[in-house]
Amino acid sequence: MTREDTAGAVLSIDAGAIVTNWRALRDRAAPAECAAVVKADAYGLGVEQVAPALWAAGCRVFFVATLDEAITLRWCLQRAAAESEAEETSPPAIFVLNGAPPTGQMEFVQYGLIPVLNTLDEIGAWASLSEALDCRLPAAIHVDTGMARLGLPPDEFARLCAEPDRLSGIALGLVLSHLACADAPGHPLNHKQRAAFATARSRLPAAPASLAASSGVFLGDGFLFDLVRPGYALYGGSSVAGETSPMQGVVRLEAPVLQVRQIDTGESVGYGASYAASGPRRIATVGVGYADGILRSLGNCGAGYIGGWRVPIVGRISMDLTTFDVTGVDDQAVQPGTLIELIGPHHPIDEVAREAGTIGYEILTSLGNRYARRWLSAAT
Ligand SMILES: *Cc1c(COP(=O)(O)O)cnc(C)c1O
Repeated sequence: MTREDTAGAVLSIDAGAIVTNWRALRDRAAPAECAAVVKADAYGLGVEQVAPALWAAGCRVFFVATLDEAITLRWCLQRAAAESEAEETSPPAIFVLNGAPPTGQMEFVQYGLIPVLNTLDEIGAWASLSEALDCRLPAAIHVDTGMARLGLPPDEFARLCAEPDRLSGIALGLVLSHLACADAPGHPLNHKQRAAFATARSRLPAAPASLAASSGVFLGDGFLFDLVRPGYALYGGSSVAGETSPMQGVVRLEAPVLQVRQIDTGESVGYGASYAASGPRRIATVGVGYADGILRSLGNCGAGYIGGWRVPIVGRISMDLTTFDVTGVDDQAVQPGTLIELIGPHHPIDEVAREAGTIGYEILTSLGNRYARRWLSAAT
């Protein structure tokens, strides 16, 4: 028995496509370096598979959100290095976007992690630790250029520029900022942020600079600086809102039909009787639901595919079940055991997201842990 025999549905993840996407982004960004963002367990897909594959392809800079994620990443990159023949001189860099919590500072040192410092207080705490340990600890600084989310706000940045000694004990390894509207290439905030970032970095000690995440890589050379930080595009997502992704698809989700039934005019399907048949219909039920990341908002507006044929979701999504109208599909082609593609080549994550009224990032990071995960490995 394998997990594929016991689990209800199979989630295939193509590590080779992730590597292909990383190489395409790297080539596009060159001569800027291309990092990989693997926060949230590599966008829900599995950092323990994704990070070693990217490392083997030559990626040497990684970003995660939290200290926990960074420690997991360090372990799996160490294992990958130990298992490979390659002679590595230095371990890959791991940046932690959410900064160094005071209680976790020593873990940063122990695992060789680089915090992205977001406030003057954090810079002060990191400088104090450097002084106490009598070494210049590496750090990155995040300067907010118009997102008002994370990073030094303008007043703190001005104070830092007026008091540069605040940084003298720190080995500044990267200055970064993040774009708010990069998936809308025509948005005026993009150029405003780019200009603000160019000014900011020129006022800090010399260090590599990074502005672009996935979408920023496609905004033009002026946005590339020294390092780009794609996440979503690695996993097949589109860089421009509403447009088809130029990246290779990575995820395929298929669930077998459990049961097929015939209903008549006026009969309803599922909780709340939210769908009522306007004529005779055939309904196929599969064993995945909102507990598996099939968002409830897909009820009566999502779809699946059977052999390239679109079959609409009818009725509400249940916790463990989803119902499709398969009336248009040949009887023989829909039987218990027939696979319905919920995500895949016919139905990419951005399209699923559009139907659900969300973004593909949320589709990926919501994928549940009940699937049998089938990894298609990267060719070496
Ligand atoms: C998540 C994140 C990224 C990656 O963004 P994508 O749109 O997935 O490429 C890069 N930088 C920061 C600061 C982030 O929070």
